Amino acid sequence: MNNESKIKNEFVGDPIVDAGLMAIKLLANKETNEYSKDELKKIADDLLKLYLTPAWSKEMQSIFPNSTYIQPAKNYNKEEKSREFLYELIDGIGISENREKYCIFCGNPAYMRKDEKPFNKTQIPLVGSSDFTNFFPSFNDGIEICARCALAIQFSPVLYYKTGGKPSCISCNNKEVMQVYGKECIEYITRNKLLGAYKTKDFSGIFDEGFKSPQNALFHLAYKVCLKYKRLRILKEHEEIVIYHIDNFNKDPKGVRIYKLPNEIFKFVIILMNSPEYKKTWFNLLDKHYSKFDTNNDSPIWKTNNNRIHEYLLKNESILWAFKDDNSKKPTVPWIIVECYMELVRNMNKQRIEGIKNLADKIAICIEENNTKKRINDIISARDFPTFRNQLRLVFRDWQKLGKEQPMITYEEYISTIIPEDYSNWKEVQDLIIIRLYEKLHNMLSSGVIDDVEQEKSKGDEE
Ligand SMILES: [Zn+2]
Repeated sequence: MNNESKIKNEFVGDPIVDAGLMAIKLLANKETNEYSKDELKKIADDLLKLYLTPAWSKEMQSIFPNSTYIQPAKNYNKEEKSREFLYELIDGIGISENREKYCIFCGNPAYMRKDEKPFNKTQIPLVGSSDFTNFFPSFNDGIEICARCALAIQFSPVLYYKTGGKPSCISCNNKEVMQVYGKECIEYITRNKLLGAYKTKDFSGIFDEGFKSPQNALFHLAYKVCLKYKRLRILKEHEEIVIYHIDNFNKDPKGVRIYKLPNEIFKFVIILMNSPEYKKTWFNLLDKHYSKFDTNNDSPIWKTNNNRIHEYLLKNESILWAFKDDNSKKPTVPWIIVECYMELVRNMNKQRIEGIKNLADKIAICIEENNTKKRINDIISARDFPTFRNQLRLVFRDWQKLGKEQPMITYEEYISTIIPEDYSNWKEVQDLIIIRLYEKLHNMLSSGVIDDVEQEKSKGDEE
């Protein structure tokens, strides 16, 4: 058998094709270029048995609608037709007809089916490579694809993940992570085959951990990769996870929705999960921010309800509001987590974070020495930049009144750390200062609420 007739093991960079290639590798339990077409046909037979179960037939409806796997017509031999199709693809691997048409996934010569029908949505879910997702405007003329990629796509559902009742293709740029994840999917399938669970269509064929929203599932996978896969030492800290939520059956024009956990957030998650203490703090924090609607079922809230912190992270909006509790005047996480978040997720440079922290520390000293707790409230309640700036100015004046030789902050530091270039992110600076003040002035603030008389008196200070 020559090399060309064997499947190559390179991944092509498309989430669905790559999931399928990984599934084949794991099912065959061999490196992908080490097995014969006969071995491939054997695992194709097993795949077919799986897809014809009631549980999996239901999944096929949304992944490969109208395909041979689920043809409802009488006298239609689903098993025979599907086997013919899979065997044809296996036999077609490495065969080139010189049509000068190329596979849109891997660039190798495209395969022409024996009946010369085009490949369409029936065999290939409406998902392209990450760059070309939803690129295919119409499947009327089908798409050009090679037999190997088309075969891989048939296997890809084995590594899908159920989110909100829909099949979702999981992609991670670290193939070792994909491999460990893939083994989990296959364990799930093997276990349920043995238990006879697939005899009912009410059971999920696809790996299902009960997550209602893709967003929750995305973070769950990230936490899981960090915690469970950590001991395998496969994390390279450049990971990104993407969930392709597939809806090929319904008339959703998009066909697929993409949920991506970018590397900046993944790195932050790794730091949180690496420390038992931070991990505990983080999950406690998440607990406070699940949406409140009642789900009326037995699933835990973290599987069913959206979390505001997760939402804001994915929207790329600041979550500093979650790091402070204005009622109890306490930070909700230690400052080190705030720093990591600002640096990794918000891209604020270290010097600037340090500068803001130093300023906040001096403000804390100033407030303590002057015993002016109300300044904190003034800083918290500044709703616009001019007010905030004015509050800082008042603190600088307090500092001078204390007779400090050094200024609280030099003009250069002020320009570079507090208000660099634009003022648009002054709110982040304000939040950071408040979080730090809560941490530094914890004792002073916990000794009682700021009294109103003092607040009234302070109005005279405003200009
Ligand atoms: Zn290909």
